[in-house]
Amino acid sequence: MLDKTVTDWKTAAARLDIEGRALIDGRFVDALSGQTRTSYNPADGSPLAEVANCGAEDAEVAVTGARRAFERGVWANMAPMDRKMVLVRWAELIEDNREALALLESLDVGKPISDTLNVDVPAAARTIRWSGEAIDKVYDEISPTPSDCLALVQRLPLGVVAAIVPWNFPLSTTAWKLAPALATGNSVILKPASNTPLSALFIARLASEAGLPDGVLQVLPGPGGSLGKHLATHMDIDGLTFTGSTPVGKKLMEYSGRSNLKRTFLELGGKSPNIVFADANLDKAATMAAVAVFYNGGQTCTAGTRLIVEETIRDEFLERVIGKARDWMPGDPLDPGTRMGPMIDRGQFETVAGYVELGRQEGAELVFGGGRVLEKSGGYYHEPSVFSAVDNGMRIAQEEIFGPVLSVLTFKDAEEAVRIANDSIYGLAGAVWSSNINTAHKVAAAVRVGTMGINNYFGGDITVPFGGFKQSGNGRDKSMHAFHDYSELKTTWIEFE
Ligand code: NAP
Repeated sequence: MLDKTVTDWKTAAARLDIEGRALIDGRFVDALSGQTRTSYNPADGSPLAEVANCGAEDAEVAVTGARRAFERGVWANMAPMDRKMVLVRWAELIEDNREALALLESLDVGKPISDTLNVDVPAAARTIRWSGEAIDKVYDEISPTPSDCLALVQRLPLGVVAAIVPWNFPLSTTAWKLAPALATGNSVILKPASNTPLSALFIARLASEAGLPDGVLQVLPGPGGSLGKHLATHMDIDGLTFTGSTPVGKKLMEYSGRSNLKRTFLELGGKSPNIVFADANLDKAATMAAVAVFYNGGQTCTAGTRLIVEETIRDEFLERVIGKARDWMPGDPLDPGTRMGPMIDRGQFETVAGYVELGRQEGAELVFGGGRVLEKSGGYYHEPSVFSAVDNGMRIAQEEIFGPVLSVLTFKDAEEAVRIANDSIYGLAGAVWSSNINTAHKVAAAVRVGTMGINNYFGGDITVPFGGFKQSGNGRDKSMHAFHDYSELKTTWIEFE
């Protein structure tokens, strides 16, 4: 399996049977309008599939079906032990279809096949299995009342939940939403990103095969500005869980306030600091500084885009990072040796190229990369790029570029490192590298982010919560904490006579 060549993958791609219809109320159907949207392969711009372009009228059918399923209790009232069995079976089916799903995700997103095969697909299966296995170990509460009373504090599903996800990690973010929302008994309507709807449709079919009752999970591809807004302002949707950009997240809070105050949980953007002290393991820190910013072409919410280096090692460390950046030249995503693929589309490519130009104008020094490559392939590939002499006030240090562009800054002491790290509207993730545990821990504690690594970047697994401080959001995906986002607490106070 792992020794498949690029030719093997291309042959398999040509044979792939791709589902582009929406899953509504237990059936794969076209949009009621009959409209479709073409899904393209970012690697070469070739069309992959025609996908249902759903609108408000499709959403109405889906909401009615989701509500009906919830009220009938076909899933919500099922014993958690039985919901577990369905989720575990679903995870198994995802694993059984690992290669086809990894290939589909690679084609739709432009992610390297080695990543989708070894990271995205196994992580999605793990998330669903873990949530299923956890849900029948969650106990509710009896509060400490006087003996003539009994008070029950129960966790109940919200009801109908809409989930809206982005294009950069379609499968992972979908699993992070669906697993806890379904485990807790909700009916869920998923709106994938318009660019990348295919893996969600694929795994939704597997969920039905695993025994998820009709109407409990529906997948509606369609435009965020119309379909997404319709769901977010709907009066009969009880919860909204979102992963995407901070500007859209702000709109969703408004939509919630303007409609029915649906519970709204947001996982948003980032501009994460990666702090390196002179006493760190510099080779490992440099390797991971490159991984932190170039993995997934920098199209990663937690990307370590601000590398904040102790002044005394600036030149030496920069040399090391540039050496590592050379390993990240982009290539064909279906080549198992490729580490970085194309940008998702022309718009994202132009955004990245625009920020590189802006960095130059702002006075930062472009010390590596900066150009487009493989132009003739039809895809939009950008070189890994490194700016030094960056001031944290520059726009390239403040704004989320969402591409393979690293800003290198320097600090004199720990206090200054923390001040620079926290000088951001975002607070999603970060890391600090030092062989002194006192320095490392004090800095990690002072940086205001949801996830902080010490001597690692991207550390963590399904057992720990994930989410942001500040304008990086307000919810938590993963771990048992994710169950809170999809539940209401209900008190029942009983008095004995
Ligand atoms: P985006 O533009 O905010 O879109 C995200 C989703 O929202 C898409 O499905 C989009 O639909 C939909 N949408 C857009 N406008 C909407 C509206 N007015 N009402 C309802 N839905 C709407 O983000 P993106 O460009 O896809 O993804 C990149 C962003 O996601 C980055 O900021 C990244 O940091 C963030 N992200 C955060 C995390 C995290 O866990 N914190 C993880 C991954 C990504 P269309 O596709 O049709 O536009």
